[in-house]
Amino acid sequence: MEPSSPIDRRAFLRRSLQVGSVLAGAAVVTIAVADHHHPATPVPTTTTTTLGPPTSSDWATLAGSLAGSLILPTDGAYTADALLYNSKFVGLHPQAIAYCASADDVARCVDFATAHETAFAARSGGHSYGGYSSSPGLVIDVSRLSSITVDERANTATVGAGAKLIDVYNALGAHRRLLPSGSCPTVGIAGITLGGGIGVFGRKYGLTSDNLRSLELVTADARQVSASATDHADLLWASRGGGGGNFGVATSLEFTVHPMPEVTLFTLQYPWPAAATMFEAWQHWSLTAPDELWSNCQLFTQGDYGYLAQVGGVYCGPSSALTGLLATLERGVGSTPTYRFVGAREYVTAMEIEAGCAGLTVAACHLTTQNPAGTLGRSAYSAKSSYVDGPLTSARVSLVVAAVERLHAEAPTIGGGLAFDAYGGAINRVATDATAFVHRDKLAGVQATYSWSSATPPSEIAAGAQWLTWLGRDVFDPTTGAYQNYIDPTLADWAEAYYGSNLERLKVVKTKYDPENHFAFAQSIPRTH
Ligand SMILES: Cc1cc2nc3c(=O)[nH]c(=O)nc-3n(C[C@H](O)[C@H](O)[C@H](O)COP(=O)(O)OP(=O)(O)OC[C@H]3O[C@@H](n4cnc5c(N)ncnc54)[C@H](O)[C@@H]3O)c2cc1C
Repeated sequence: MEPSSPIDRRAFLRRSLQVGSVLAGAAVVTIAVADHHHPATPVPTTTTTTLGPPTSSDWATLAGSLAGSLILPTDGAYTADALLYNSKFVGLHPQAIAYCASADDVARCVDFATAHETAFAARSGGHSYGGYSSSPGLVIDVSRLSSITVDERANTATVGAGAKLIDVYNALGAHRRLLPSGSCPTVGIAGITLGGGIGVFGRKYGLTSDNLRSLELVTADARQVSASATDHADLLWASRGGGGGNFGVATSLEFTVHPMPEVTLFTLQYPWPAAATMFEAWQHWSLTAPDELWSNCQLFTQGDYGYLAQVGGVYCGPSSALTGLLATLERGVGSTPTYRFVGAREYVTAMEIEAGCAGLTVAACHLTTQNPAGTLGRSAYSAKSSYVDGPLTSARVSLVVAAVERLHAEAPTIGGGLAFDAYGGAINRVATDATAFVHRDKLAGVQATYSWSSATPPSEIAAGAQWLTWLGRDVFDPTTGAYQNYIDPTLADWAEAYYGSNLERLKVVKTKYDPENHFAFAQSIPRTH
């Protein structure tokens, strides 16, 4: 019998929105090749004078200079094009959105925005939890830079900064190659890589950013810079986990890729009364798991659908080799799962299942705002992240389970809870200062989320926000840090939490490449002075 898909974070978000999804209006956005409406004008040398806020004629001049296109509020496509993935950001209204067709276009946009002292933000997949890929000024969208080429001999792939994960997996799969990265199919490769990139192959092959060999960026002075181990090595170091939007606009990224392994998926679900024992067993099991085994432990309330207690994961190897490993976990839990699935899948199929896209075409596995054939809707949610350094005591495990019950008690119709993603393996073998990604000694990353729909009473949305605040204060251990890709506008000590002992070095790189702080948003890396 064909199993139902393992429930990943994204599938959960979508499922929890079933009471009334907020679907974006259709928009034509993703175009994989350059749009050549007008010939590109030469890239200007950096404008040094300040020109004042852009007038409509300035915007027209910028539009005329781009090989791509510029969308203004007067354009029919604007409303949909201004949207980010999280539908709670519907109120953000940039002055213009540039769909760059080349790195030269990006340079023109950076030069224009800095010369006119206009705020700007880079946008790849638009999934920033803080809405930081929008701007009151210019959005520099790189989604048309989406080409993907694979060098099978060198085991490398060069990926345009605007490619979406599902397209990356599909293109690599055609070459029987793999890049470890996240589950959400519509996340942009630039955003996830620059902030780390946790995924189901992470324990075996590391973070996405650990596999970044070099990248091309446009820096604040509108220069096009290649950063590699030998050239601008400080910029490569900072780009491997230092967070999106801080040092330049990435236009292309080169990765190490890996021969496709055999892949086996598994899901075990338990009745809610077994949630605490399941969690306890999982954390000890995860600690001793081989690199080939990645898993996560999910504790959720699903509104009207009840609770979910689940361990799921991906094993790089045949199902026969997973059997013994799962038996250890099942013995530790000591009760019978209500649902059990173990099955081998091809890498791309496995990633489609993880993405909640099983049975869809690749084109359909996009947002309606990203691809004319896209069928995926956007979500409204809030989140908070933390880390677990080692197995939690029984008392803390009980607190974690009670926290999910508290959310259900306070906001009975909304879905939310806690997902613990296993770290360890290749992730933890990298030294904390080898790349900007500092979280190298963790048992697991934890993410608390709750999501809502247009039908959710505002009082429940507010209760969810209070729940997150309470978790951050009374349940999470603030000394363990937070994941910069789950960027959290409510986090007070965010710079320390995201970057820890790498913060000072990141400030130095920031000051060198963006001395006037043009790449600025509420949680951008500060300069040294
Ligand atoms: C449903 C969902 C599932 C997720 N699953 C995972 C997961 O499995 N693993 C994981 O690690 N993370 C996951 N994430 C988090 C994700 O990695 C971050 O939200 C990431 O920043 C998104 O990248 P993006 O390009 O889509 O977003 P964007 O909003 O476009 O960008 C994020 C940040 O990077 C900047 N940026 C964008 N493009 C560029 C560029 N070209 N150059 C420089 N800066 C740029 C933006 O300005 C912004 O500050 C998930 C997020 C969502 C919403």
